[in-house]
Amino acid sequence: MKKEKIILTGDRPTGKLHVGHYVGSLKRRVELQNSGEFDKIFIMIADAQALTDNADNPEKVRQNIIEVALDYLSCGLDPAKSDLFIQSQIPELCELSFYYMNLVTVSRLQRNPTVKSEIQMRNFETSIPVGFFTYPISQAADITAFKATTVPVGEDQLPMLEQTKEIVRKFNSVYGDTLIEPEILLPDNKACLRLPGTDGKAKMSKSLNNCIYLSDTEKDVKTKIMGMYTDPNHIRIEDPGQVEGNTVFYYLDAFSKPEHFAEYLPEYNNLTELKEHYTRGGLGDVKVKKFLNSVMQEELGPIRARRAEFEKDIPEIYNILKKGSDVAREKAAATLSEVKSAMKINYFEDVELIKAQSEKYGNN
Ligand code: ATP
Ligand code: MG
Repeated sequence: MKKEKIILTGDRPTGKLHVGHYVGSLKRRVELQNSGEFDKIFIMIADAQALTDNADNPEKVRQNIIEVALDYLSCGLDPAKSDLFIQSQIPELCELSFYYMNLVTVSRLQRNPTVKSEIQMRNFETSIPVGFFTYPISQAADITAFKATTVPVGEDQLPMLEQTKEIVRKFNSVYGDTLIEPEILLPDNKACLRLPGTDGKAKMSKSLNNCIYLSDTEKDVKTKIMGMYTDPNHIRIEDPGQVEGNTVFYYLDAFSKPEHFAEYLPEYNNLTELKEHYTRGGLGDVKVKKFLNSVMQEELGPIRARRAEFEKDIPEIYNILKKGSDVAREKAAATLSEVKSAMKINYFEDVELIKAQSEKYGNN
């Protein structure tokens, strides 16, 4: 039988989705969805994972479910082609995590670089919630429950995928071939791997308040772009400027296409020419920022317009998530059943076991 091609990916409902999510994963998902190359696509709103570091703020998670769902739909995820669901509605995922915990050591979890930096970011150093510490295991459960072959995500997810692969290998070697080893799919464009925040910080992140949201108004996007961190030594227009580490150029790497130049900045043929001029001196930040604003508004405008349409029928969005969760649960339950029989904890279905035990005790 041909191996099925299955996607699983998702986002934490800790805020509205931002342009980092868009270039890092969301845009690619929509392309993959529309390529028709995949047998099944599961898109998960990871509320249970969001609670691992927001246990005292359940309302935040609850309120953001609909925001993330609206962002999904407005970017072009289509419930007729992709299964949109909510993690906590699939209890089988918790069961899988519980069994996978036996296959991972504490020191292995401590080595995870993404978790390490997230612990620092959240000031968890002295008191890490156990659930947060073990979320890479629960992510392995999410991925393997759906037998995902492909996981399109940003670069920060690399250690999670490594951890998942290790669990799969370990499980299969101990209990027999059951789980599928997934492949990570990172953005081709290097600038999209980890989009920095508007403040120039390492990563745009809901938790850092340095985001341009997909649902921001045209005016908000412009204000954020005009206030972006650039080269602090590029004070007068004539000064030579630095392109490396300059957030505006980073965003242009991520968003601009050659055709944007013809449309909005015809004095330059491409980004290389614009960068050269900036480096030489004589090109002001404001001009570059205005160009970036035109480029980004072109991309975000249609998303914003579609969102406004979807916002008109909120009950229907919950309906989509409910239906998606039912479908996802069926798939996860089938995998859990295979896992339990591989682990020999399917007592009541195991006719041979009952027969052998009866013989042992002389039943006939
Ligand atoms: P939080 O701060 O709550 O962790 P987040 O902004 O990091 O939120 P997640 O929900 O953790 O968002 O990430 C969802 C997906 O978006 C992941 O695939 C992640 O790799 C990707 N992603 C998040 N931020 C960026 C970014 N700045 N650049 C590229 N990809 C990103
Ligand atoms: Mg994150």
